[in-house]
Amino acid sequence: MLFIFGLLKMAVPKKKTSKSKRDMRRSHDFNTPVNAIVCGNCGKPIVSHNVCKFCNFYNGRNIRAAETVGKV
Ligand SMILES: [Zn+2]
Repeated sequence: MLFIFGLLKMAVPKKKTSKSKRDMRRSHDFNTPVNAIVCGNCGKPIVSHNVCKFCNFYNGRNIRAAETVGKV
């Protein structure tokens, strides 16, 4: 109501935001797609540079089995 009578004014940007500044602001807004690859051991789709969650293999080795052997 105060806006209608001109008693209270909204803050208004002085200049139009350029495409460059707008896009720089939005540079953090979107997720990048994960790099999915096929596991060399079980053939299921996995995220690259991560241990396969289906068979626990990474770089041709069973990582989880090696961890349990090392702890015992
Ligand atoms: Zn696998």
